[in-house]
This record gives sequence, structure tokens and C-alpha cells, in this order.
Amino acid sequence: MYRSHNCGELRASHIDTEVTLSGWVQKSRDKGFIIWIDLRDRYGVTQLVFDEERTPKAVFSQAESLGREFVIQVKGTVIERASKNPNLPTGDIEVLVKELTVLNTSLLPPFTIEDQTDGGDELRMKYRYLDIRRNPVKNNLIFRHKVAQAVRNYLSSKDFIEVETPYLIKSTPEGARDFVVPSRMNEGQFYALPQSPQTFKQLLMVGGMDKYFQIVKCFRDEDLRADRQPEFTQIDCEMAFVEQEDILDTFEGLTRHLLKEINGVDVAKFPRMTYDDAMRQYGNDKPDIRFGMQFGELNEVSQHKDFNVFNTAELVVGIAIPGGNSLTRKEIDQLTDWLKRPQIGALGMVYVRCNDDGSYKSSVDKFYDETDLKQWAEITKAKTGDLICVLSGNTNKVRAQLSALRMEMATRLGLRKPNEFAPLWVVDFPLLEWDEDTKRFHAMHHPFTSPKPGQLELLDTNPSEVKANAYDLVLNGNEIGGGSIRIHDRATQAIMLKHLGFTDEQAKAQFGFLMDAFEFGAPPHGGIAFGLDRLVAILGGQETIRDFIAFPKNNSGRDVMIDAPAPLDDEQLKELHLKLNI
Ligand code: ASP
Repeated sequence: MYRSHNCGELRASHIDTEVTLSGWVQKSRDKGFIIWIDLRDRYGVTQLVFDEERTPKAVFSQAESLGREFVIQVKGTVIERASKNPNLPTGDIEVLVKELTVLNTSLLPPFTIEDQTDGGDELRMKYRYLDIRRNPVKNNLIFRHKVAQAVRNYLSSKDFIEVETPYLIKSTPEGARDFVVPSRMNEGQFYALPQSPQTFKQLLMVGGMDKYFQIVKCFRDEDLRADRQPEFTQIDCEMAFVEQEDILDTFEGLTRHLLKEINGVDVAKFPRMTYDDAMRQYGNDKPDIRFGMQFGELNEVSQHKDFNVFNTAELVVGIAIPGGNSLTRKEIDQLTDWLKRPQIGALGMVYVRCNDDGSYKSSVDKFYDETDLKQWAEITKAKTGDLICVLSGNTNKVRAQLSALRMEMATRLGLRKPNEFAPLWVVDFPLLEWDEDTKRFHAMHHPFTSPKPGQLELLDTNPSEVKANAYDLVLNGNEIGGGSIRIHDRATQAIMLKHLGFTDEQAKAQFGFLMDAFEFGAPPHGGIAFGLDRLVAILGGQETIRDFIAFPKNNSGRDVMIDAPAPLDDEQLKELHLKLNI
């Protein structure tokens, strides 16, 4: 038996008990006549004591040679500590060691296994198994487990069945590039890894499963913007015989359950906002509504003077930065430079100071008088002491730029409190999205999303106006879930695919299996998928999903620990009928 107790378990009530513990040497303090060792395992740290008088000589000298991260087993007696450590659950006791077995030695770890480590990111990823021994990483993984467990319990209690779907499939159109796997047995043919189990979960509905969920890996070969992973986990769900309202209800229930169970937070009924309103008021389809700073559109009150920049702009829009009038001229210039960086791409910024005496002072005083500026302040809901920041130009670009400014200022002002939770449903997304590069429409969600009732005809006349039965769940400015009510008949699906530019043959080749299934009594159905990694990070009050993934990839999609991806040898390539052309 390696252990009678774990390293986080012993208390004063165990004094005089004979125990066996196993774990890692966290640190050792050698006073010459007495040695203390902190023994660590997943459950905690227990202090071991070896002393010249009470510990057998051989054991004492063995203890002197223990290094950090050695794996040891000890037998001894629980005794009361002379100087107790109130910060440690086991701080009232220590174990007086009588027997010591070294189970394994360890090289000196390349970084300290402490809560605050000296290891840089790459080093910690290379030795992730050592990183996982550290409390912050370990606790995140345990936290993730708790969230996943709560999800499983809740959905199971609501009659959902967890069904696994295959990983070796063919392309699912979620808008990213596929990871592909060559087939050895089918020369020249490839599987694609699922970007999501979308078509399979729909087929499960055709199969009569009624309520499905799966905590499942999805694979998307995208350029890795900060905090994305090429493989990530979804809580993927689908229900039959449902309308949008049923889905929102069910998954609002799940989210509320998680917030209560995991964070002890009660949240009121989730507000809803249309996509159009979200874009107009926040410039973003995933607004963080923990704070105000809503957009004020200023076209009407700014395009009547000689200021050409505004007069020629499609949109003039501003926000009020609370207390922003305290920014110095230099700080405002810095903010303007921040907005002009290529990542954001604003051309400039107009500002209005809302002075304490009720007067206004703007960077465009040459063109606008107090009456104009007062109107701007009313529309942006600016108060005395605020700074109104105004951007202008192409609607979509300006909204994105001002949204970035809004989030940045909210972060700087400490308005994005990690332990405050503000969920929001964004509904009525457009069905299609115009893509400038390819000069055609794409499905904004995916091609299986149904248009709002009665809007199918609009597809021919005014495609960009068609709204979808699609919804996103937003939490604190992050999209944590998204889904839709699906098309469930062949004819509508065919129309949709045609509008997305598929010929009949292409549609049949790629989605024939789904269209065929729709002819065998497909029930009305819809669903949603949550991004588990991000959800866990937000519930954990943190920003980076990597910190909640046991073995994440870096920004170039590499696993630096196992050194993947890696070349194949010629034999393997031959077997797969592949020839490299690089
Ligand atoms: N498959 C979709 C996604 O991955 C979610 C859904 O429509 O249920 O975003």
C-alpha cells in the first residue's frame, strides 16, 4: 500500500496515528540536526520531520540526500507541530518519519514548481507535466472537470443523451478550413476532422434521439488569433420538436445552473437583444453589458456644418468615457494613436471634453458650437467630467473600431469585473453575410440554419435582409454559445445551398446524405453549441483558455512538448499514397 492518507488530509484529530504517505518533495529545510520536508500531492502539502534524536540514523541520512521533485514514500506518526501554520489545512500537524523509500529520483526541474513560477510560457509548455503539478494549473483542470460534470448532470437530468459521433468524417461547413487525414485504404481520398458534429447531431434527430448532447473535440484549421486553439471542446446539443424559445429556455437553464453551482451566483432572466441593436448600440454582436458606454449615432447632429470628414462619412458615432475629461491632452493623443494602429485602423478621433462647469471643449471647435456639442452629449449620455470620443467612416469599420475603444477603456477603468456575470441572448442574426473577398454570400451561422418564417422569398429579392432563426449566448463580452433552428426539409435546404453558390451536383456530393435523410421524416429540430474552454475560463474569472487545457498548442498550432506536427517518414508517406511537393 503506497499510502494510508493523502497529503492534504491529516488534521489535529489524527495526532498519534501511524500513517503512510506518498508524494513529491516540494522543498526541504535542513537545519543539520533536524530536516523538514514539504511532501506534495494533488490534495495538498504535509510537513514531514526527520530529527536526529527520534528518526533512525539511516533514514535521517537518506532524508539529507532528497532533491526537489523526488518521489518518496514515508511511514511515520502524526504529531502536533510546535509552530503551526494557519495558512495550510494540514498546518496543525507534521509527520515524524520512521521509514523512507525513494520511489523515484528527479532531475532538477527547469522551473520552480510554485504558484508563482520563474518558468516562461514556452518552457512551461515543453514540460507541461511539471506545470500541471503547480496549483494554478492543477486547480484549473479540476475546475474544468467540475464544470463538465455539472453540465453532464444537468443535461442528463433533462433527458439529454450523450452520444459520440465520429472524428473521421467529411467536411462540415462551419466556415473554417478542415484538418484532413489521408486514408490508407482508400487511395487518394481523405477524411476531414469535424469542425463540429453539426450534421451528425441533426441525423441523430432524424434518428429519433430527441435530445442529444456531447462534450466533444472540434477541429478548425484557422490562423490562430490570440487565445484560439486548433482543437477545442464544445458542449454540443440538439433537440427535436423545438422552436427557438424552447432552446433559449433550456440553455438559459443550463447556464443559470452553472453560474449557481460553480460560482454561487443567481442571475435574473437573461436579457435579449437583436443583432441589429447590438451592432448599433455596441458595434459588436457580443456586447459586454456589464457597463454602459453605449454608442450614440451622431450623423443627424454632425453633418450640417463644414466638417468634411463627418459630412462624407457613412456613420458618425461616439461614446462617453466616464470621467474621461481627466485625461491629459497627451493621454488623448496616445489613445488616438492606439486607435490608429493597423490592428484597429481608425483614421483619427474627435473628442469633446465635458467640463465640470457644464461647458464643452472639443477638438473640432472650429466647426461645432456649444449647442451642437450639447446634443452630442445628450445622445451619447455624457455627463460632466466625461470625454466623448467620436469616430467616423464606413459603418462596419467604425463600429468595430469604437467597440475596441469601448472595451479598452472599460478594461482600463476596471469596469470588466471578473466576478460579475452578465449573460445576454443575441437573436435575429442575418441569415447571410456578404464576403468581399469571394464576392458572394456566406451563411452567417452555417448552411443548415433556417430563415425566419415567411422570409424565404426575400432570399431572391433582398438576401442581406433575411433574418435567421439563429441565436448566440454572450457572457461578459464573449460568445459562449451559438445555434439555430435548422432547416428540416429537402426543398428548403436545396434553396439555401443554391443561394450559397452550390450547384445541384456540389450540394448532392457534399450534403446529399443529409438531404436524403430529410426525406425520411425528419422532425423539426434545433440546437446550440457552447465553447467549453472559454466558458470554463470565464466562470473561472480568467481570460486565457490555454490555462484551462491540459495540453494546449501554441500560437503556431504546435505542441512543443511532444513536438507535433512532425514530418512523416518515406515509408509512411508511401503507404498513404502521398508524395510531398515542397
Ligand atoms: N455547429 C454549430 C457551431 O459549431 C453550433 C450549432 O449550430 O449548434 O457553431
